[in-house]
Amino acid sequence: MGRLFAIEIIYRGIYQKTLASRISRAIVLAAHQEGKPGISFGRYGDSPERNGIPAKNFAIVGTDQETLEQGMAKYEPKEVDITIAVDDTLFKGVESWAWYGLQPVNKLLKPGGTLIVTSRETPEALIKMAHRKETPYQLAIVKGTPSFSGLWVYKDDHTDVRILGAIAKLLPELFSLKSVQKAIVNEWKDPVKAESAARSCERISTTEVMPNQGNPEIPYKFEFPKWHEMGEGIAIPSIPAGRAVEDPVSHATGGFRPDRNPTFKKFTTRTMRPVVNFDTCIKCTLCWLQCPDSCFDVTPEGLYDANMQACCGCGVCEAVCPVKDCVTMVNESEFGDNASQWEEWKKDKAAYKIWLEDKIKTRSERSHGFRYRGQYEEQIPEMLRIAREG
Ligand code: SF4
Ligand code: SF4
Repeated sequence: MGRLFAIEIIYRGIYQKTLASRISRAIVLAAHQEGKPGISFGRYGDSPERNGIPAKNFAIVGTDQETLEQGMAKYEPKEVDITIAVDDTLFKGVESWAWYGLQPVNKLLKPGGTLIVTSRETPEALIKMAHRKETPYQLAIVKGTPSFSGLWVYKDDHTDVRILGAIAKLLPELFSLKSVQKAIVNEWKDPVKAESAARSCERISTTEVMPNQGNPEIPYKFEFPKWHEMGEGIAIPSIPAGRAVEDPVSHATGGFRPDRNPTFKKFTTRTMRPVVNFDTCIKCTLCWLQCPDSCFDVTPEGLYDANMQACCGCGVCEAVCPVKDCVTMVNESEFGDNASQWEEWKKDKAAYKIWLEDKIKTRSERSHGFRYRGQYEEQIPEMLRIAREG
């Protein structure tokens, strides 16, 4: 039997669907240049694919047809040579549509495999976000702002070919730079894209991540029941109604926090989170009423605290809030936990104000969403400059 190569591309539903399928298709086309058969397919992005929800594409390549067919007999790869995360906030975990709990971004990597990410963060900041893995792996950063666009509109900022060029360096047994450049020109008829792939191939470097590095949190686990253990029926416990909220300083209780699903958390859908200024909130209720996921807890004094285990980062609360800068969406990579903002504010209002002002300063780093006509034209030159100059 020959060698089987497996690559997964983890992307954000809708915004990065076209990007992910272009990468996985081009991986197969580049391998074909060297006579290796392959196939690319999507998973967890089933219709209705939803904004931001993590989904996957796979590219499977064999050194010969028989090897490929044996590999394809599996429903999906259990381990991969390379994982590509086209958004760095996916490092916090991946909880897909109709899936089974939050999974680490590096879960499927083989020992010594490579995790490629598009990011402007440092290796240290990224490693801190990803869950620890029992075996060492390599981290490779394709420098740049994660590329978000629409389902029907593609932002051609060369992220696709820069990742392909990086693969040629990191896994040369899969395909060479020459083969991938040929596939790029055949597919997209653009020699400048082939040049971007070459520059990325030349520049990409790796950092080794050891088992004691990363987020120590143990991800959600469960055992599938065996077929002979399955009963004739099951009762799914309902979610209780909820309860009053306790003030962390005075311990007075009041307001309301709905109980939420203890397993399905939703927050890995988020690439931005709302930061709330409780000093300027006028308690108008609009954020609470309009949040599509019922994320706001009502505090004893009638303020609204966005629950970070539940918030999917849609930005509706920012859009409806009538008070300037009272709710501001900030890139998710700025945060290390899901703590309650209201509790932090209650404990130390002066310190919260400093924290809030610091977070809001970074608002230009907002990640997703098509907000105005001409937005992509404005974003592409900067990405092409990075592709040229590094
Ligand atoms: S961003 Fe705001 S409106 Fe959207 S889910 Fe989060 S709290 Fe709710
Ligand atoms: S929309 Fe703004 S002002 Fe109104 S309750 Fe929410 S945070 Fe306060």
